[in-house]
Amino acid sequence: MNLDAPVSELKGIGKKTEELFHAVGVYTIRDILLYFPRDYISYPDIKDPADLAPGEHAAIYVHITRPPIVNTKSRLKTAILEIGGQAPELRAIWFHQPYIRSVLKKGQDYILYGRVAEKNGILYLEQPLIHSPEQYMDLQKTVQPVYQLTKGLGNNTVKKAVDQALSDCILDDETAALRDRLPEQIRQKYDLCGYAYAIQNIHFPVDVNACIEARRRLVFDEFLLFLLQMHLMKEQEEKTANHLNFTKESILPEIIKRLPYQLTGAQQRAMEDVFADLRGPYTMQRLIQGDVGSGKTVIAFSAMLEISGQGYQSAIMAPTDVLARQHANKLTAFCEQMGVDAPVVLLTGSLKAAQKREALEIIRREKNALIVGTHALFQECVEYANLALVVTDEQHRFGVKQRAGLAEKGELPHYLVMSATPIPRTLAIILYGDLDISVIDEVPAMRLPIKNCVVDPTWRSNAYSFIEKQVEAGHQVYIVCPLVEPSEEMDGENVIEYTKKIRERFKGIATVGMLHGRMKPEEKNAVMEAFLQGETQILVSTTVIEVGVDVPNATVMMVENAERFGLAQLHQLRGRVGRGDAQSYCIFMQGKKANTENERLSILNRSNDSFEIAREDLKLRGPGDFFGIRQSGAFSFQLADVFQDMAMLQKASEEAKEILAADPDLSAPEHYMLKKELHRMAEQNDSGERFHI
Ligand code: ADP
Ligand code: MG
Repeated sequence: MNLDAPVSELKGIGKKTEELFHAVGVYTIRDILLYFPRDYISYPDIKDPADLAPGEHAAIYVHITRPPIVNTKSRLKTAILEIGGQAPELRAIWFHQPYIRSVLKKGQDYILYGRVAEKNGILYLEQPLIHSPEQYMDLQKTVQPVYQLTKGLGNNTVKKAVDQALSDCILDDETAALRDRLPEQIRQKYDLCGYAYAIQNIHFPVDVNACIEARRRLVFDEFLLFLLQMHLMKEQEEKTANHLNFTKESILPEIIKRLPYQLTGAQQRAMEDVFADLRGPYTMQRLIQGDVGSGKTVIAFSAMLEISGQGYQSAIMAPTDVLARQHANKLTAFCEQMGVDAPVVLLTGSLKAAQKREALEIIRREKNALIVGTHALFQECVEYANLALVVTDEQHRFGVKQRAGLAEKGELPHYLVMSATPIPRTLAIILYGDLDISVIDEVPAMRLPIKNCVVDPTWRSNAYSFIEKQVEAGHQVYIVCPLVEPSEEMDGENVIEYTKKIRERFKGIATVGMLHGRMKPEEKNAVMEAFLQGETQILVSTTVIEVGVDVPNATVMMVENAERFGLAQLHQLRGRVGRGDAQSYCIFMQGKKANTENERLSILNRSNDSFEIAREDLKLRGPGDFFGIRQSGAFSFQLADVFQDMAMLQKASEEAKEILAADPDLSAPEHYMLKKELHRMAEQNDSGERFHI
């Protein structure tokens, strides 16, 4: 089987299914093999019907005394099985499956597995799967993959396709499609399973342990390849001379004089590092690492003003449209404040054609322009007059592949990267091996610490009263929900319905905005703008507001289904408040009524330090939780998580160094497969020319 063959070569994948696969980024057999599950389910132990709670997925045992009653007149053609014997009443319900009546045989025992819902005081097991007790026991030993899907593409379709691709490739010894890329000796050293085994078991683990082993192996590969690639790239790029010609005095003293606040010590040090780099013998390659709210933006803006003052262009790239717009507004205000007269130009995907043309024209013409944008900044049509500084904000959001994209646009521009990833310095050095690092480990002193509380839904009406008081006091509020719209697969609040509820509750009291990732960019911008301007007081949103958004007047962050988020992510969300002078509050609402205190969330209650939060979160998680909640998705590794897999990252880093020390161009036969994979990655990243091995 050729790994580069299109997915349509698999049996049962026609034109339509192929297009659905394309929609999730799967084109080839290789893609399908690397389309790892986003989660796994294992079938739970059988529950006593008296213990069922709405919202959960559960399995119960039933003995059939009377077959289900089918109502063919109802639109849904329901089949209902009464499961007697307890209060509240319990029923199983199937829609559009009248044949269920003859599936469940009188006198027989079954296990029903499905989602529990409550309606009019009656508990329903909705659309449960039907198994014999023996079958169910077998199923319980397995772990089933759950894939990221799109409308029309079901989990079973993906499962079947993966299964077929796997059996074709694994049987196919001759082309050895899944031949191991790691030399035997490295595998032994780190006790890693084989590649083919890992690919097979990441999809269809024989048991939980196999799944963990498979993941360990693939995480190691991911880190190792990333690090090898980075080291090889670095070889080529080390230290380029700084060509800029600075003729005027530095603007820094003026900026410091005019700033409305005093920089923290850490900000000052970072600022000095950056300004020294700009005039240094080599072009800057620097990372500024600092927690949310530590004040990184002012450093980037100052550097941009300095560059502009010397007659050169600079650009700052943000991961979202919303953040780019916010930066553009703030940068304009910053210029005014500093008495600088230079064009600030915004370039994002959501600009209208005429606006875009104008932006491109300014970028081509104005030699001292301050440019703000998203990915759109490195489209081919963008021609820079003389780009001398590139800033990437929230770098970890861009993923490993886009590390240097923009840097290629200018003639060896200075390069500044800003990130709020809470990783220890030692790991930052590994991940950003090619950059110098300034750490901002202080937050502005004047801030009042945020008050946190972890509550359950019984407290919701209190929360709303509290929000009402904050709104009356002139403040603004974020409410974050995990879902955009109601979902069959996942429980949790969704933005669309929640917004309706909140609009009703706060009628005449507050204007409510709604924001989620499925909205058009123009809509998102309008909603965000209204919130920034204080025209809306409550913003119901998904985590799209997680990065970078700065509305100092917002004082409450309420997170629904807080248990569904990684702690690092919650910490980022919390960072959206507590940015002004007023006391701010964070309300973590747990979806289910919490019987036991939720230990994980209480860490947030205790600590405001992102390192500590990430560390504690890890300690609390068992091996089974590996796949559930990812941390902030930093660096966009496919499986690896820089927090969770820190130890693995260390190992991969040592190994990468050893490999390259012994065999700098990977020409040894045992490194052939690694080299081949790196070539493939380079081609895929469309930056093949950037390193040669
Ligand atoms: P982040 O590091 O998360 O990007 P920002 O740069 O957005 O943080 O800064 C957060 C807020 O703190 C902004 O409103 C900014 O104006 C303010 N700020 C930055 N530095 C200081 C300081 N030294 N003293 C007081 N406020 C500051
Ligand atoms: Mg920021």
